[in-house]
Amino acid sequence: MDKTIGIFGGGQLGRMMAQAALPLNIQCTFFEASTDCPSAALGEVISSKSENGLKEFIASADVFSLEFENTPLSDVDELTKSKAIHPPRQALATAQNRLLEKALFDKLDIPVAPYKAVDSLESLTSAVDELGLPIVLKTATGGYDGKGQFVLRSVDQIDQAWKELGPAKSLIAESFVTFSREVSIIAVRGINGEVKTWALAENHHHHGILSHSIVPAPNSADLQPVAQDYITRLLNHLNYVGVLTLELFVTDKGLYANEMAPRVHNSGHWSIEGAVCSQFENHIRAVAGLPLGSTDVVRPTVMINIIGKHPKTEDVLALSGAHLHLYNKAERPGRKLGHITLMPVNQSELLILCRQLAKILPEPLALSEDMSI
Ligand code: AMP
Repeated sequence: MDKTIGIFGGGQLGRMMAQAALPLNIQCTFFEASTDCPSAALGEVISSKSENGLKEFIASADVFSLEFENTPLSDVDELTKSKAIHPPRQALATAQNRLLEKALFDKLDIPVAPYKAVDSLESLTSAVDELGLPIVLKTATGGYDGKGQFVLRSVDQIDQAWKELGPAKSLIAESFVTFSREVSIIAVRGINGEVKTWALAENHHHHGILSHSIVPAPNSADLQPVAQDYITRLLNHLNYVGVLTLELFVTDKGLYANEMAPRVHNSGHWSIEGAVCSQFENHIRAVAGLPLGSTDVVRPTVMINIIGKHPKTEDVLALSGAHLHLYNKAERPGRKLGHITLMPVNQSELLILCRQLAKILPEPLALSEDMSI
């Protein structure tokens, strides 16, 4: 092996990073509480629960990255005494706190919904006065997939919202954005500052969890350069190395940033088959200081998450052109167990494939009837 990359986290994102690293003679190690995690098949997992775990992990690799957004900053600080991590600490610290994140978007002139910091019942009441209703109240740290959020539609709900989220101490109140759809842009920045961006993904959620992404997002020719400009500002400002994701709302006033993820992202899984070079391979290339690959789209792609229950493998593989990625996870309601990539040649094949897929997935598929590529 030419190099070893140590990755904080050992979930499916680490698994797919390591799958992309192996052909480049790059080995990955992982730092994760459970050694029986999705990445375990691909490299050594060092338990984050063991007493000397962090020391061992730091000794296990040449350079470091992460797939777990809530990687403790104290671990990163210990690591950077002797080794390098990409992306940079500032990107991680910013993405871990919605207030810091929104402040950075403001600073870089990336539009966001009006927001206020909330740390008491009084400040919540004045945020409601200033922003108007509805607002989305979110915990500043620790929330994901819509957890730690309360949509406030009437002043009667203020007490209840504070009761539910107040214990988190630091909250953000955001104006409710009326959006027509949600998209994400993913880009990679190399060690020499080169930036490459993938096509916008249109993302559909079900019960707060990503259900499927369509790439390129239909009718997004005007949005692509704007989103590309926003993410490039972030990458350059942060002197970022690796893959960064920016989630955006499409509104009639243009794109509004929602949040960023300093890592590869579920809405980029399409790129394994759908792009010349995937988000995983380009992330590994960037972290290893290698030249970046083309992010061009090979073919329009639909990526569908497998959530909660597994379909029969043979049923999925019988679908024309389908690719199946399983993460070796046990079934549990709401858990991401794998994904399926479809690359239909045209709109009518897309609809046929989706109808077939809806029959074989054990959980209802929230595909819209008017889905187009
Ligand atoms: P988040 O955890 O910030 O990604 O939010 C989860 C989901 O809640 C988003 O994907 C949106 O569908 C919705 N959401 C979040 N913030 C807002 C907002 N300010 N206005 C409207 N919907 C929102």
